[in-house]
Amino acid sequence: MIRINENYTKLKASYLFSDIAKRVSAYVAANPSKPIIRLGIGDVTEPLPKVCLDALHAATDEMGARATFKGYGPEQGYAFLRDAIAQHDYAARGCKIESDEIFISDGAKCDCGNIQEIFGADIKLAIPDPVYPVYIDTNVMAGRTGANVDGRYAGVTYLDSTPANGYVPAIPSVATDLIYLCFPNNPTGAVATKAQLAAWVAYAKKNKAIILFDSAYEAYIRDPQIPHSIYEIEGARDVALEFRSFSKTAGFTGTRCAYLVVPKTVMAYDAAGNAHPVHALWNRRHSTKFNGVAYPIQKAAAAIYTDAGKQQTKALIDFYLGNAKLIREAVKSWGFTCTGGDNAPYLWINTGRDSWEFFDLLLNKAQVVCTPGAGFGKCGEGHVRISAFNSRENVETALARIGAALK
Ligand code: PLP
Repeated sequence: MIRINENYTKLKASYLFSDIAKRVSAYVAANPSKPIIRLGIGDVTEPLPKVCLDALHAATDEMGARATFKGYGPEQGYAFLRDAIAQHDYAARGCKIESDEIFISDGAKCDCGNIQEIFGADIKLAIPDPVYPVYIDTNVMAGRTGANVDGRYAGVTYLDSTPANGYVPAIPSVATDLIYLCFPNNPTGAVATKAQLAAWVAYAKKNKAIILFDSAYEAYIRDPQIPHSIYEIEGARDVALEFRSFSKTAGFTGTRCAYLVVPKTVMAYDAAGNAHPVHALWNRRHSTKFNGVAYPIQKAAAAIYTDAGKQQTKALIDFYLGNAKLIREAVKSWGFTCTGGDNAPYLWINTGRDSWEFFDLLLNKAQVVCTPGAGFGKCGEGHVRISAFNSRENVETALARIGAALK
């Protein structure tokens, strides 16, 4: 008899986006003449930068000619892209990352989800709350978390991100082995300082642990004091892997390209305490289960590192940050505090009210859809997430409607 992986039955059903969709459909059915504006989405709205489009077209033409056609490429990615990343994303910031420590993939979601597979089944996890749900759910599937009791898994050390700590969690008082950190954060938009990250690197070193650093939103950082990479912290090369993505940097959510950095100096241990390079394990896993990102997509991604590409991606992100600034100012005028929006595309509004109640208020009185914070974890209660991914017109109309509804 075929059996299921029973860990899947422990997954806390993620009702968040289906609940939102249900409430929105019910409202639209009852109020067909009132147009809805979605300010909750985590997907980009603007088209690909021209440099990417041009590179995509040119590379597609190469695939149509015998002399330039490409079949399977290197599973880890083409050298032209890995070299550009090493140079522009790392060497330019003083970080020592070699091209062959960069693994190109079709998404940071897959990388965040797949990486846990190379670690032991009984390791201890530290996971933020609120959180990008992939970190936790993939560990539930692997059987590392124990049962869900009152919305939290018994075997996980939760890193609470609250107004009291400025949404940057404190170092836990217990030892853990695998630590997930995400800055700029989804959903809170919070960023971490060098000193805060240095404390995490020291904690990981002390515990022979590994930090998984998700910096999918690093391109939104505008404060020059805020690190873009964990490798800007001394010693991080020994204890941290870093996830990056072209999704929010250059509008690749539908195009799909990302990368994972695995320094050769990061070690993990067997039961006898012998050290194994994580790079070799990940290389084995990646090349066994993945066959590389399409050549035209990698060419399109590499185009962002040209001078024109840098200008165009900066303009794209400046546009979203312009939306975020308008939202921040409006939130302040409504009398709420919020984090994010200055170095991140997300704004995390502390409404002080039940997050679904606030969601319903915005839907019913302003026809605006936000994301209730409770959907991202216990610490998300009392908050809603608003994203800057939208047209300027939609943002302005939505803010005017919310302002009127809250009066
Ligand atoms: N990491 C975080 C924190 C995200 O918010 C997202 C997407 O929303 C991802 C990773 C996934 O990025 P990708 O589109 O590269 O899979």
